[in-house]
Amino acid sequence: MRLACQTCDTVISNELIELKDLSRLNKKDGQDYIPKGFFIIDNQEFYLRLKGSIMVNIKDLINSKYHSDVSRLNGCCGRDGLDGMNRTCFNNHEIGTEMSDCWMPHCVALNPHLVKFI
Ligand SMILES: [Zn+2]
Repeated sequence: MRLACQTCDTVISNELIELKDLSRLNKKDGQDYIPKGFFIIDNQEFYLRLKGSIMVNIKDLINSKYHSDVSRLNGCCGRDGLDGMNRTCFNNHEIGTEMSDCWMPHCVALNPHLVKFI
């Protein structure tokens, strides 16, 4: 499966399969939360406000840009994702939140209302 922007149909991910073995999730700060090539629907406590998001590895995102509103891009040495969605498709439609700062596991939480599986 791949993910696409619901607004313009731009493909925004590599081929992904659902991660069934949740012991492969890595909650260490500064490292990838989810292995490349996989997604999970997050119903854990990873970030409560993002519950229900489609979580993917940052490296699996394609045709995507950072938000044009720089106030969304705060972080120490990465993007902390605390100021709202910071990732858009190539056509500037919001798709989700990248978390890539040094003090958190790294991943992208895609908004299930803004992206779709194809
Ligand atoms: Zn789009």
